[in-house]
Amino acid sequence: MAALKKKKKWNDYLWIVSAIYLVLGFFNIMFAWIGLVCFLVPIIVSLSGGGKAYCNKYCGRGQLLEILGSKLKLSRNRSIPKFLKTKWFRYGFLIFFFIMFGNMLFSTYLVFSGASTMKEVVTLLWTFKMPWNWVNVSTVTPWIAQFAFGFYSVMLTSTILGLITMALYKPRSWCVYCPMGTMTQGICTLKHVKKGIL
Ligand code: SF4
Repeated sequence: MAALKKKKKWNDYLWIVSAIYLVLGFFNIMFAWIGLVCFLVPIIVSLSGGGKAYCNKYCGRGQLLEILGSKLKLSRNRSIPKFLKTKWFRYGFLIFFFIMFGNMLFSTYLVFSGASTMKEVVTLLWTFKMPWNWVNVSTVTPWIAQFAFGFYSVMLTSTILGLITMALYKPRSWCVYCPMGTMTQGICTLKHVKKGIL
């Protein structure tokens, strides 16, 4: 008997939002601010007792990688190297990610305080500076635009890493070391430990 097809829910289409978000940044960098939702919602969900619900049900990026890797068969579907799964690597990458995030916030602060001027560049993989000056941001307060450039750099960089690991290994291999996934996992673990103590 043919297996019954699972009825799709609204949240099964969040990958479209993720894809649109990435495209919008090419047209107007200010859309990058919307990406804060992907940072704040997973933390709020896990802190309020929802565990990994964001990852399991609402993450558009995870869905997008699954679609590209499985449905479009862009993934080699190989096992991810063991070291990427270790706590050392996952938490080390989380710390590295936060240091770079802090660096981005500091650059925004420098522009806010007038110590530095806004740079219309998107930095990929924390290294490659791409000029991103085809949209006029002169009408926006410089630090607001600077944050958008920095945040979009973070989002594009993590997308590139996600796509590379999707292509080389299993579709959602990025989820193994995704900083948001590691952080929500850490929050769940801490909550369990706290429950055990009380
Ligand atoms: S681990 Fe990261 S990319 Fe994967 S589902 Fe969770 S938040 Fe999304």
